[in-house]
Amino acid sequence: MMMFENTLAFAKQLDAQDELASYRDRFHHPVINDKQVLYFTGNSLGLAPKSAKDYVNAELEDWAKWGVEGHFHATHPWVSYHEILTPAMAELVGANQSEVVCMNSLTTNLHLLFVSFYRPSAKRFKIISEAKMFPSDRYLLETQVKHHGFSPDEAIIEVAPRSGEYLIREEDILAAIDEHQDELALVFFGGVNYFTGQLFDMEKLTQAAHTVGALAGFDLAHAAGNIPVKLHDWDVDFAAWCTYKYINGSAGNVGAIFVHDRHGDNTDTPRFGGWWGHNKERRFLMENTFEPMTGAEGWQLSNAPVMGMAVLKASLDIFQQVGLTNLRQKSLKLTAFLQYVFNDVVAQFPDIDLQIITPKEPERRGCQLSVKLIGTDKTFFSALTDAGVIADFREPDVVRLAPTPLYNSFEDIYQFGQTLKTLLAGWRDE
Ligand SMILES: *Cc1c(COP(=O)(O)O)cnc(C)c1O
Repeated sequence: MMMFENTLAFAKQLDAQDELASYRDRFHHPVINDKQVLYFTGNSLGLAPKSAKDYVNAELEDWAKWGVEGHFHATHPWVSYHEILTPAMAELVGANQSEVVCMNSLTTNLHLLFVSFYRPSAKRFKIISEAKMFPSDRYLLETQVKHHGFSPDEAIIEVAPRSGEYLIREEDILAAIDEHQDELALVFFGGVNYFTGQLFDMEKLTQAAHTVGALAGFDLAHAAGNIPVKLHDWDVDFAAWCTYKYINGSAGNVGAIFVHDRHGDNTDTPRFGGWWGHNKERRFLMENTFEPMTGAEGWQLSNAPVMGMAVLKASLDIFQQVGLTNLRQKSLKLTAFLQYVFNDVVAQFPDIDLQIITPKEPERRGCQLSVKLIGTDKTFFSALTDAGVIADFREPDVVRLAPTPLYNSFEDIYQFGQTLKTLLAGWRDE
C-alpha cells in the first residue's frame, strides 16, 4: 500500500522521483482557451509525439524524391514498412514477431479474424462475451452470427455484473463457459473493459475456453500499451487492437492483430485473401492462386498506408526506449494517486456521491478510473471540461479518467483534485 498526501509539495516530490518524468516533454500538450489542459483521455486518443512530424516528413521527402521507386528505394522501403513496426508491437503484447502485424483498423481486423476463428457449426455456434461491450464489438458479434444464419439472442451469451454491482465476476464468466460448453464456439472479451476499466484474466479465460473445445479472442483496444500482456504464453488464439489510444498512433491510424503461431504457421487456416498476404517472394509475379504467407502477415490484404505508419513508428520508438515494465510501474502509482486524491476530495462533500466503479485492486485494472456520477448529472462533466480537464463522458452517467504514464505527471493529478474540489463546492452551493 502506497502512502500518499493530497498536497502540491507531495505531488512535486513524486514527480522529482519519477524516472520517466522527462517523457512528458516529448508530447504536445493541447492548449485550449489559452490554458494548458489536464489531459486524461489517453484511453480515447493519445497525445501527439513531437517526433512524429520528422518521421512523416522523411516519408514525404522520399515520395518527392523517388515516386513509385520509394517502394524499394526509400530509406525505409515502403514495400516492407509495416515490418519495421513489428518488433516493438510484438513486445507490447508479449508475442513472437511472426504473430503480429500492423494493418487496417480495429473493427475491420476483428471481422477478418472472425472469418478465421468464428466458424460455427449447427451444434457449436455460441459466443460468450461481456455485457456492455464497446458498441462496435457488439455490432461485430451481432452481424457475424447473423451472417452465419444464427440469431443473436441465441448465439451471443453476455455475462453481466450481478444486480447492484458494476463489475463482472470472473466466476460468473467461468460458469457461463461451463454451462454452454457443448455449444460454445468462442470466448471473446475486451482485455480491459472500456466502460468500467475492469481488466480480465485473459490467461484464465483462454484456458477455460480451450478446456471446453472453444477458441479465445480479445479486443485489446484498452489494454495494448496500457498493461503488460503475454498473448503467446497465455495461448490466446487471436487478438486485435487500435493504435490511437494508449499507443499514441494518431486518429484512425492502422491497428494491429495477433494470430497465435499455432494458427499462423498453418497456411490452411481459413481466411480472406489479398495480395499483401500472399507469399512475399512471389507477390509481384501476379499469379492467380492465393498462397498465404505464414504468420500474422498472411492476414494482410492491402499495401499499407506509409504516412500513418510513420507516425506509429515515432510513437513505438518511444515505447521501446521506455519499456512497458517501467511504464506499468509508474502507471500503478499514478492511478493509485488519482484514486487517493479523488477519494480525499470527494470525502469532503458527504452529500455528493461520486463513486469509482473500476476495481480498487491495481492488478485488476489499467490506468483508467471510471467514476459514476450519482447526485450530479452531465452538466457536472461539462463544468469539468470548461475548467480545463479533458476526460470523457460515457452514457448514461460515467466519466472516465485515464492518467497516462508517458505524459501525465503527479502534479496533473493534484491539480485535477483542486479543480474537482472547486467544482464540487460550487455544486453544493447551487
Ligand atoms: C476504441 C474501440 C473500438 C474502435 O474501433 P475502430 O474500428 O478503431 O473504430 C472498438 N472496440 C473497442 C473495445 C474500443 O475500445
